Amino acid sequence: MRVLGIESTAHTASVGVVDETAAVLANVTDMYRPARGGIHPREAANHHVELFPDLVANALRTARVGPDAIDAIAFSQGPGLGPCLRAGATVARTLSLEWERPLVPVNHCIAHIEIARALSGLGDPLLLYASGGNTQIVAYGHGRYRVLGETLDIGVGNFLDKLWIELGGSFPGGPALEADARQGTTLHPLPYSVHGMDVAFSGLLTAAIQLHRQGVPRPDVALSVETTAYSMLTEVTERALAHRGHGSVVLGGGVACNERLRTMVRTMAEGRGATMFAPPRSLCVDNGAMIAWTGLLAVRHGRTIPVEESVVLPRQRTDQVEVPWRN
Ligand code: AMP
Ligand code: MG
Repeated sequence: MRVLGIESTAHTASVGVVDETAAVLANVTDMYRPARGGIHPREAANHHVELFPDLVANALRTARVGPDAIDAIAFSQGPGLGPCLRAGATVARTLSLEWERPLVPVNHCIAHIEIARALSGLGDPLLLYASGGNTQIVAYGHGRYRVLGETLDIGVGNFLDKLWIELGGSFPGGPALEADARQGTTLHPLPYSVHGMDVAFSGLLTAAIQLHRQGVPRPDVALSVETTAYSMLTEVTERALAHRGHGSVVLGGGVACNERLRTMVRTMAEGRGATMFAPPRSLCVDNGAMIAWTGLLAVRHGRTIPVEESVVLPRQRTDQVEVPWRN
């Protein structure tokens, strides 16, 4: 069985093809980069609409298959930016009708955990999902993935992006801030905002901008910010591991590309006798392959929908979706 997956929750338009062994046959991606400021949902959606025809053709070429070899079309149903989600869903519906293949809705957050599970071979890991719009600690329980903790305001990636733009850079901020932080030498105290299993970043954002205005060099701001934000994420991940007794943690989301975060979570996990796995970077960021893979799991359980019912759900929560393949 082969499934084609369409991802378009935010800045990234991506098309993936996977087979039932979770082999990634194609994963072609194009990211919308605003000339200035953050993501404008309409502009991002226009980018996706323009790019998708080529991305689909390219994915089939890369996978060395024709439409005949595709058994189902999966798409990101939510959560995400409405206009962006609709762009991807429209492409998925069109392919489903044209190729006469079933349509499978996929929750984007669940896709991050499923691709990490497939690649790592870990049966029941905890997920630290750290991306632009989302920051959650997720674990499976009673038929669904449960959110054990999350950000109370903005996602950690949005926080890094906003900060970087304030400091004079352009989107995306995370990778640039990571490079800058490597040159940092002095750690400055910043607000550390952990509330039980939840985290918050807006106070940290304000304080980091202040720090820079006071004349602290950008690399030192970057170093201090990464240290503080990733310590917060590592702390809540450790608390979840301690209480739930999971033997493993996997990372997902664009911020999981960060070497410092990977090292901190790995060190913490190994200190507790647990393992840590992070997918390759192309499968940590938003990507069509993870949507295709989760679609494949869902279609095996008959989770297809008619085109008329395939509305996008910008605010869909991780725990609203049943995951029968985990039973
Ligand atoms: P996603 O929404 O999962 O595609 O992730 C996008 C987010 O990941 C953006 O906010 C980026 O700034 C962030 N990001 C990407 N690479 C890195 C990195 N190396 N370190 C920190 N953040 C990153
Ligand atoms: Mg994501």
